[in-house]
Amino acid sequence: MINDNCIFCKIANGVISSNTLYEDEDFRVILDLGPATKGHALILPKEHAANLYEISDDIASKTMLLAKKMAAIMTDRLDCDGFNLVQNNGEAAGQTVMHFHMHLIPRYKDDGQNILWVPSKPSQEELEDIKNKIIK
Ligand code: AMP
Ligand code: ZN
Repeated sequence: MINDNCIFCKIANGVISSNTLYEDEDFRVILDLGPATKGHALILPKEHAANLYEISDDIASKTMLLAKKMAAIMTDRLDCDGFNLVQNNGEAAGQTVMHFHMHLIPRYKDDGQNILWVPSKPSQEELEDIKNKIIK
């Protein structure tokens, strides 16, 4: 299903034009208009789902396969030094467009980006508390 109010539905389904790198029956891969680095792209499923919690298992597995293929091609063509896959869910996690997407971010030595987090230092007790919450 396409959501009429969703810009990524419109882009994924060709209603709004984009710099398309790849397209098949389930996905369109486009260049991000506000790229973190040269070549930053987005995998957009054609069917609307807001986030990871809403996508089907089929789209979830196909997204990762496509990310793997795109990373290989882009690394070869762009001669980048590394690659980040980033996928945000919810405002608290930095999601700004509420249509599931996977960021493909080529990384270059000294590209000036900082996509990593600041590590914290939990005690073993805190780690066990969290572990028990997750696996209970
Ligand atoms: P997120 O913060 O994970 O929701 O990422 C949304 C991404 O979509 C950002 O990197 C934006 O630069 C990008 N973006 C927003 N609108 C467009 C658009 N019309 N075409 C291409 N990229 C877009
Ligand atoms: Zn959508």
